[in-house]
Amino acid sequence: MEGLKWSLLALLPLLASVILFYMKTPPQKPSHSECSLLDHNDFWISSKRIVTPKGVISGAVEVKGGNIASVMEEDWQENVGTGQVIDYGEAVVMPGLIDVHAHLDDPGRTEWEGFPSGTRAAAAGGLTTLVDMPLNSFPSTVSEETFELKIKAAAKRIYVDVGFWGGLVPENAFNGSALEGLLKAGVLGLKSFMCPSGINDFPMTNAGHIKEGLSILAKYRRPLLVHAEIQRELEDIADDPRSYSTYLKTRPASWEEAAIRELLTVTNSTRAGGPAEGAHLHIVHLSDARSSLDLIKEAKNSGDSITVETCPHYLAFSAEEIHDGDTRFKCAPPIRDAANREKLWGALMDGHIDMLSSDHSPTVPELKLFNDGNFLKAWGGISSLQFVLPVTWSYGRKYGMTLEQLASWWSEKPAKLAGLDLKGAIAIGNHADIVVWEPEVEFDLNDSHPTYVKHPSISAYMGSRLSGKVLATFVRGNLVYKEGKHALAACGVPILAR
Ligand SMILES: [Zn+2]
Repeated sequence: MEGLKWSLLALLPLLASVILFYMKTPPQKPSHSECSLLDHNDFWISSKRIVTPKGVISGAVEVKGGNIASVMEEDWQENVGTGQVIDYGEAVVMPGLIDVHAHLDDPGRTEWEGFPSGTRAAAAGGLTTLVDMPLNSFPSTVSEETFELKIKAAAKRIYVDVGFWGGLVPENAFNGSALEGLLKAGVLGLKSFMCPSGINDFPMTNAGHIKEGLSILAKYRRPLLVHAEIQRELEDIADDPRSYSTYLKTRPASWEEAAIRELLTVTNSTRAGGPAEGAHLHIVHLSDARSSLDLIKEAKNSGDSITVETCPHYLAFSAEEIHDGDTRFKCAPPIRDAANREKLWGALMDGHIDMLSSDHSPTVPELKLFNDGNFLKAWGGISSLQFVLPVTWSYGRKYGMTLEQLASWWSEKPAKLAGLDLKGAIAIGNHADIVVWEPEVEFDLNDSHPTYVKHPSISAYMGSRLSGKVLATFVRGNLVYKEGKHALAACGVPILAR
């Protein structure tokens, strides 16, 4: 007995060293076969409709080591040699969509969405890069420390590439070193609200904070994104809270106009030679296509560095069509009347609205209060991420939108805003971020359609018939999604500004 004890004791150091070895060995990087549904790195994608900066071509794209090595028309077959070719025939091959406005709610509110479900939904929808908003996760991303938590939460849990906006809030606006710490840590720019955000640890800013923020952002040449609504006194609204028109009255277009008017008192500093030259102001989710849009046009003409986005829900829906109690449609600013929607389409087609974003802002179904249908109390935010490509296409066709415009609004302009130099176009040297889809194929978005967002039932698009089926999505050359199947491992890259 005694002898056995001693021999076990003698083994202890060996046992300890084995345990230590396993503790020290870093977790294995996923292999190529886990990151991609293809077993090869280098290949060609051919199609009769490839959307490039030079127009739609018939030809092939060569993918090598995750990047686009060549884009060829006509004689491309002669250059392929023994290379693998995936022929997509008539399907459209387009740069992957870049969504500069997504709330993935991770860490802290993963019961609302989370990095894994949100980025799987993105991959299935042809989105290859998301830029995550600094709020609705907990804590909000407003400091270097909270940004670290964000990066940790994203690590090895994202199926597409993800960048991050930081928050500009009163607490850091006048604290230059705190704000610079956040920018140096790698956020692609900042986001602020001119009205209460609905999230306690993300308070609103005023024009003073925004001016201060722009002066620091100028040094880093990064943008400030602003939710442009300012609360004004309202007459007593004693109408039925289940009626959408009641909600609409609580957030009139004059709130957007007031905010933009105030913003423009500081954006003149971004003009060439101005004190904040190099900074840029981007107005998120514009809904009012009347006076607010006129103000933005004037500012652009005066040389302010300013851009504006709108979202598919403002282009697809109108206030008149929203049924009593259907809080899936509640968002801020609200969806306005049909005449306003026509003006939004006009402005988008004419280039006065620069780009599109999802403002995917989900929650748990309970907070949508479907039983009460109370528009004034339900959580505001539209769940849309996976469907923005078919939605934009389905509703835009009647306005004569082209594939080039689609690629400009969803890839090229968003890449420029977020400073993603190697993304946003099918061009030599860029990341091979590509969506392959069939614009002519229609489908019913119902319970039997494969959806990957955490709570599909809260999406305002459920029940629609849409046009545009995603066949395949490539992120940095990895085939991350193909007809209902995802790659095994989450090999998206967190994007940090340097
Ligand atoms: Zn948002």
